[in-house]
Amino acid sequence: MFVLNEVPLPKLGLTGLEGLMSEEELAIQEVAHRFAEEVMRPIGEKMDKLTAEQAVAEDSPVWEFYDKLHESGIFDLEAIGGMTDEEKARILPIILEEFAWGDAGLTLLAMVTHFAAITAVGTGNAELIERFGHLRGCWIGTQPDRGSDVLDIDKTEAIPGSKHGRGNLIARVDGDELVISGQTSAWVSGAPLAECGLMYTQCDYGDGIYREDGGLHYVGVLVPFDLPGFSRGLPLEKLGLRSLPQGELYFDEVRVPMSYVIAGKEQAYPSFFGSLTFGNMEMSITYTGIARAAYEHALTYVHERKQGGGEIINHQSVRARLFDMFRNVEACRGMAHRAFNYNYGPNGPHLLGSATAKTFVTKTSVDVTSEALQMFGGNGLTKEYPLEKLFRDARAGLITDGENNVLSLKGGTMLSQIYKDKYGLT
Ligand SMILES: Cc1cc2nc3c(=O)[nH]c(=O)nc-3n(C[C@H](O)[C@H](O)[C@H](O)COP(=O)(O)OP(=O)(O)OC[C@H]3O[C@@H](n4cnc5c(N)ncnc54)[C@H](O)[C@@H]3O)c2cc1C
Repeated sequence: MFVLNEVPLPKLGLTGLEGLMSEEELAIQEVAHRFAEEVMRPIGEKMDKLTAEQAVAEDSPVWEFYDKLHESGIFDLEAIGGMTDEEKARILPIILEEFAWGDAGLTLLAMVTHFAAITAVGTGNAELIERFGHLRGCWIGTQPDRGSDVLDIDKTEAIPGSKHGRGNLIARVDGDELVISGQTSAWVSGAPLAECGLMYTQCDYGDGIYREDGGLHYVGVLVPFDLPGFSRGLPLEKLGLRSLPQGELYFDEVRVPMSYVIAGKEQAYPSFFGSLTFGNMEMSITYTGIARAAYEHALTYVHERKQGGGEIINHQSVRARLFDMFRNVEACRGMAHRAFNYNYGPNGPHLLGSATAKTFVTKTSVDVTSEALQMFGGNGLTKEYPLEKLFRDARAGLITDGENNVLSLKGGTMLSQIYKDKYGLT
């Protein structure tokens, strides 16, 4: 039992029902929040109004974002690398939620930009660290003819007896070089700005690209974009997340030293799985940040807008709807933190943990932004108010980093397999 002598109004932290947080965590949260408020939100709003080409041009505010992010030291790879797993599980979601509260597209851009460098540093290989440790990166997985199939490299969700398509981007081993030809999908985040990529693609090691089960052999490789045969397509125009530019990348017999391969034949799938697991986890907290921003805007608006004889918060149904949004944001955060905790804990990391949170949070984030937009009435649909942007940003979450239905199928398959293994079923 809790022993109380009085019943005051509940105290809330910056994010809501905050419990035990250390002084250090509160300080980090404050710094990240200030950066999100002063730098990310204004730049995100400006970039939202630009065309895809303007968003990546030399005079785009995206460069100011990169400069200020670098100056802030918040994304210091060495400091993050030096954290214990427990610190990563607690601190990373605190930073990322604040960032995404500021602007989700820029949050994802900051992360994806560092993927190649983090991978290089993670290998401990001096040559790779020297070559890629300071380059802006991107994550190359999908191709025009291989979207969800990339997510399903292990082919658990393919039609029985079928073969995956060959796809559009194929690597082959040629002595001490990997030769890459073809194109990525138009969806590679950060591609228009990137200097290198962490690429996962089909690979012919000398015995064809197909595995016996009709799936494809893979390779994980760091690819610098200053090599002959590399070129880029135009940046993609799309709905939402407009501060996260995407585009196609073309490879015409690009020759990469085999020493840049970070995951060969047998290791490629686990390595890919690791980056997908991290990506889905990151999505879960990013979309929590979007939902919280929407809730906070709605909270302010309902205390200002007058209809039905007074501020709309005085209508009982509006208070109930507001509470429903608050509860959903708390549920998102709870799921996201649980995914970080699981992945950095003794049973993790695993896609099951990340996909559980990613699919729930992105769906709930669409619900919350939609309800917040509804609270704004017609104003919610206009560009004069912030909900229109947040709703568009939220919508992309159902597809990025694995379309939610496909991720859910994979989750269900894993749960069933765990059960079958436990009881010796086939
Ligand atoms: C904002 C954003 C950012 C992105 N960033 C990147 C990035 O940085 N790098 C990168 O490589 N890619 C990126 N992507 C691509 C993303 O990973 C793919 O869009 C996603 O995996 C879905 O692939 P697809 O679009 O080809 O859809 P498809 O795979 O064509 O799916 C179409 C429909 O078919 C259904 N479907 C497909 N396969 C199955 C199946 N086996 N069983 C049942 N139903 C199925 C799906 O549920 C879906 O509704 C990004 C996408 C977005 C939207």
